[in-house]
Amino acid sequence: MNKYHYLIVGSGLYGATFAYRAKQMGKRCLVIDKRPHLGGNVYCENIENINVHKYGAHIFHTSNKEVWDFVNSLVEFNRYTNSPVANYKGELYNLPFNMNTFSRLWGVKTPAEAQTKIDEQKAEAVAALNGCEPANLEEQALCLVGKDLFQKLIKEYTEKQWGRDCKDLPAFIIRRLPVRLVFDNNYFNDKYQGIPVGGYNKLIDGLLEGVECKTDVDFLKSEYKDWKKYADKLVYTGAVDEYFDFKLGKLDWRTVSFKTRIEDTPNYQGNAVVNYTSHNEPYTRVIEHKHFEMFGQEVYDCPKTVVSEEYATEYKEGMEPYYPVNDERNNSLAEEYRKLAEQEEGVIFGGRLGQYKYYDMAPVIEQVLNLEL
Ligand SMILES: Cc1cc2nc3c(=O)[nH]c(=O)nc-3n(C[C@H](O)[C@H](O)[C@H](O)COP(=O)(O)OP(=O)(O)OC[C@H]3O[C@@H](n4cnc5c(N)ncnc54)[C@H](O)[C@@H]3O)c2cc1C
Repeated sequence: MNKYHYLIVGSGLYGATFAYRAKQMGKRCLVIDKRPHLGGNVYCENIENINVHKYGAHIFHTSNKEVWDFVNSLVEFNRYTNSPVANYKGELYNLPFNMNTFSRLWGVKTPAEAQTKIDEQKAEAVAALNGCEPANLEEQALCLVGKDLFQKLIKEYTEKQWGRDCKDLPAFIIRRLPVRLVFDNNYFNDKYQGIPVGGYNKLIDGLLEGVECKTDVDFLKSEYKDWKKYADKLVYTGAVDEYFDFKLGKLDWRTVSFKTRIEDTPNYQGNAVVNYTSHNEPYTRVIEHKHFEMFGQEVYDCPKTVVSEEYATEYKEGMEPYYPVNDERNNSLAEEYRKLAEQEEGVIFGGRLGQYKYYDMAPVIEQVLNLEL
C-alpha cells in the first residue's frame, strides 16, 4: 500500500487548503515545497514585530460567505479595509476615484458638480477624436475619465507599470475606469475583507496543522518526482510548463520586485498602500506593512516600521513568476499545456502556477472547497 493518499507539491493556499480538506476526510498527505518556508506567496516574514508580506501585499476579499466563514473558522480576520492613497508630485488623492478624489482635484462639493466636471472633460476627449475610435490607451482613458484624472493618476503610473508610453499601449488594457460619486475610499466592492489577526502565517498554520510537510524540497529535482512510489495521487501547484519539462515551450510571466527597509519611525506614510503616480519616483507603490494589522494607537506602540517599494520589473529566468501574461501566444500555449495536464493520470494541477491563471486568494480556496475528493 502507498504511504500517502496525496503528495501535494506546493504549500500555498491551493496546496494547504487541499491538505486541510484531505486531512478532514482522514486521508494521509505529504506537502512539499521548494521554498524554505510554507505558505507560498501569502507567507509573511516577521521584522520588528511587523508581518511583512514578502511576496507582495495581500488583502483578503470576497463576497462568498462559505469561503469567508471557512477562513474565519481557522483564524480571526481584522477590520482592514483597503483604501489606497495616490501621491502625484506631493499632492495626495484618495483612491479609487471617488468624491474625496474629485473634491481634492477640483474643489467640487456635490456629486452633481463632480459629474458635470467629468462629463465636460470626457466630451473634450471624444470631440478630439473626430469620430474615430480610441487608438491607444491614452485616448481610451481620456474618453473614460477626462484629462485631469488621466494626467495625475493614470498616465505616468501606467507608463511605469508597462515601461512604455500610454500612446504606445493598446486601448483594450483599460476597458473600464470606475468612478464613484460617493465619499467611499474602500477599494474593493466585496462584502467581506480583512487580514488574518497575527498575519497570513496563522491561516497557513491552521490549514496545515497535523499535516506532514517538508520545505526546501523541489519536486522536480527530488526522489518525489517518482511520486507513484510515495502516493496514490499527486496535487501539483508548481508551474505547469516546468512539470512537462517545457516540452511545448516556455510560458512567460510578469513579475514585480521589492526593496524593503526598516524606518526608524512608528508611522512613515500613515497608510498601508501609497501609489506613486508620477515619473518623479521610479517605484509604483510603497507598502507600509504595519498598517495591515495595527490601527490607531497600536501603530505607535510599535516604535519602528517596515516599508517596501514596489518596482515593475521585466521577468527573467530565476525571478518569481507572479502574473501570467495574457496575450495570444501565452494563452494558446497554456491551453496546450492544460490539455497535456488533463491526460496526466492521477495528477491534479491546481492554483496560479499549475493552471497558468491569475486568481485572487478567495477563488483559489473556493476552487478547492468545491473539489470532489
Ligand atoms: C504580487 C501579488 C499580489 C497579490 N495580492 C493579492 C491580494 O491582495 N489579494 C488576493 O486575494 N490575492 C492576491 N494575490 C494572489 C494570491 O497570491 C494567489 O491567489 C495565491 O497565492 C495562490 O495560491 P497558490 O497556492 O496557487 O500559489 P502560490 O502561493 O504561489 O504557491 C505555490 C507554491 O508551490 C511551490 N512550488 C512551485 N514549484 C515547486 C516545485 N517544483 N517543488 C516544490 N514546490 C514548488 C512554490 O514554492 C509555492 O510555495 C497576489 C498575487 C501576487 C503575485
